[in-house]
Amino acid sequence: MYSIKELGLTLEIEDNLLSNIIDIGVQHYPNEFGGFLIGNYSDDQTHLSITNTILPNKFKGTPYLFERDTIGIENKLKQFYAEKPKKFYLGEWHTHPNNLPIPSGTDINAINSIANHNEVSIKNPIMLIIGYNKTKVEFGFYVQFKNKLYRYE
Ligand SMILES: [Zn+2]
Repeated sequence: MYSIKELGLTLEIEDNLLSNIIDIGVQHYPNEFGGFLIGNYSDDQTHLSITNTILPNKFKGTPYLFERDTIGIENKLKQFYAEKPKKFYLGEWHTHPNNLPIPSGTDINAINSIANHNEVSIKNPIMLIIGYNKTKVEFGFYVQFKNKLYRYE
């Protein structure tokens, strides 16, 4: 369980999902890779549960950059809207090969545009960064909240 005390927010992700995401990400070494995060909020909006990922159909990954296209993603999301309880697009994940899970300037711009753009309108998007090298893996879970980026601890 991760939390941001200051905001009273908590987050959980299933171990299987997290290890699955790491496996997928590491397969793209030395390039960055990523995907979309799916799940839902508790009724009071303070607890977030990440339950699934959707991988992009089209993307570009280099050792220092990851760009995904949203083509075809809406259709996949529809299957999750139909579930009970409903699941939604919550944000995105991507890897930092041979690096720390700290957001780059590009990452900050990306999460800002998700928070402020209508296309994938979501007020408080989540960003999961997976930093890894040969010997270890580290995560950073972030949320954009009122134009500020907070890290879950
Ligand atoms: Zn990044």
